[in-house]
Amino acid sequence: MEQNSSNFIRTIIKEDLESGKRNEVVTRFPPEPNGYLHIGHAKSIIINFGLADDFNGKTNLRFDDTNPLKEDQEYVDAIKEDVKWLGFEWEELRFASDYFEEMYERAVLLIKKDLAYVDDLNADEIREYRGTLTEPGKESPYRSRSVEENLDLFKRMRAGEFQNGEKVLRAKIDMSSPNINLRDPVIYRVSHAHHHNTGDKWCIYPMYAFAHPIEDAIEGVTHSLCTTEFEDQRPLYNWVIEACEMESKPQQIEFGRLNLINTVMSKRKLKQLVDEKYVDGWDDPRMPTVSGLRRKGFTPGAIREFVEATGVSKGSGAVDTAMLEHFVREDLKLSSPRTMGILKPLKVVITNYPEGQTEMLEAEINPENPEMGSRQIPFSREIYIEQDDFMEDPPKKYFRLFPGNEVRLKHAYFIKCEDVIKDENGEVVEIHCTYDPETKSGTGFTGRKVKGTIHWVEASQAVPAEFRLYEPLILDEELNSEENEGKTFLDHVNENSLEIVNGFIEPNMKDVKPQDKFQFFRHGYFNVDPKHTAEDHIVFNRIVSLKSSFKL
Ligand code: ATP
Ligand code: MG
Repeated sequence: MEQNSSNFIRTIIKEDLESGKRNEVVTRFPPEPNGYLHIGHAKSIIINFGLADDFNGKTNLRFDDTNPLKEDQEYVDAIKEDVKWLGFEWEELRFASDYFEEMYERAVLLIKKDLAYVDDLNADEIREYRGTLTEPGKESPYRSRSVEENLDLFKRMRAGEFQNGEKVLRAKIDMSSPNINLRDPVIYRVSHAHHHNTGDKWCIYPMYAFAHPIEDAIEGVTHSLCTTEFEDQRPLYNWVIEACEMESKPQQIEFGRLNLINTVMSKRKLKQLVDEKYVDGWDDPRMPTVSGLRRKGFTPGAIREFVEATGVSKGSGAVDTAMLEHFVREDLKLSSPRTMGILKPLKVVITNYPEGQTEMLEAEINPENPEMGSRQIPFSREIYIEQDDFMEDPPKKYFRLFPGNEVRLKHAYFIKCEDVIKDENGEVVEIHCTYDPETKSGTGFTGRKVKGTIHWVEASQAVPAEFRLYEPLILDEELNSEENEGKTFLDHVNENSLEIVNGFIEPNMKDVKPQDKFQFFRHGYFNVDPKHTAEDHIVFNRIVSLKSSFKL
């Protein structure tokens, strides 16, 4: 975050430091390792690390691993990689599971203070007893158990004497509180599950709402930033800190989630897309995950600029993906080499060019960044152009190639279409042209003008390449609000979200490396795909096309 862009959280922190309420800033990014990070998490990361950075504070990466059934080491590793790639270094790497023993002790303390009890009601009964927004809850018949009985039962829960769901530990707060979160929330449950960190040591696990404030307090977090859906939990957060007698008192502050139109952004749904093979993994370039964006070719700088531009507030409207694309264009404009690639090839024979001859032409690598120098591209009697750049029977205002018309070949000569060769089905298979040697690019030819400029690749040396072109994976702008009429988001998956075409690139690109980025003349920015690119097979992902109607 830039120093100068103020927001309400920064204002709170500044005041806390000035008033002496705090003398340092400690934040944390607390993902649950139950999926890969998405761009919404990137926002949380940038806010947490950015704010701490601005005030010379520190930020921990802490995994909220309190639900072993959904969590996995694969996710832990992926999350660490993504945070680093975004450009952040955590102060300490922590796990909620590091604190299981202390959490247990704090729960025992609550029992001793008669602020927690073991309940035998099952999940359905607990829900029934909880009441509604308009009706108060009902107290469980087990609420009045003695401290001794509760201590004994809780110890036996830990020892594994009970089955999943048979008993829970609940905070004893207020069953008639207007805030449902305070109606004796469950704070421990029995779950005979193997944990990726603690193995089989535990068969009871703390609930998030109990664990999270304790984790923050243990780490000395000063400002615990989370999204607005936790606003109603803040009284419980504060209750846990006080009742458990935590020395350090973190302050929870909520900000609005980032949502993108035409995008699902919950790990549960993203996991479903992966599990049911709508995509080829969490890092599929159509996914809004950090790893998907990376594979598509987005840069950390573009993501940071984008998040900065969305601001920090309590609101959470859905942002247009075009805004994210705007920032990647800006980021790549000066740094990525320009080149020519043919996505859907059509052969052109230049009949008056000497057979067997090849000449090298010079082309600038990036006209907006002359320091990048120039490249050599071969030209000869046979080239490929784009199928779309030829029409046998064009409409008015079509300025590209058609019978009798002359166009400029980028970096080369004018060519004129003389003849069209078709196969037995009437499909155009080859165009015959003549070129005018006087019109060579860079020689200052002014004899006549042509209206169209098209790109091309010399045929004999062209390197085959696969191009992957993307559309939004989900087609429904209202998805984030409601799922209507029994439809789920899966009913809105775009069947045309991926188009694969095979074409050619300039020979000087034969040694490109995964994650190299280029601007292909007229086609947009592309990234060399790290998953499918092999020794003899180059695959490009289109990051973004060149133009957009988006205005910042
Ligand atoms: P999801 O609901 O997408 O599965 P989550 O909130 O369950 O995400 P966590 O791993 O619990 O995922 O989130 C880690 C942190 O990232 C939390 O502080 C959470 O508030 C924040 N976060 C998650 N989604 C967004 C979002 N869309 N915008 C901003 N912050 C987010
Ligand atoms: Mg969550």
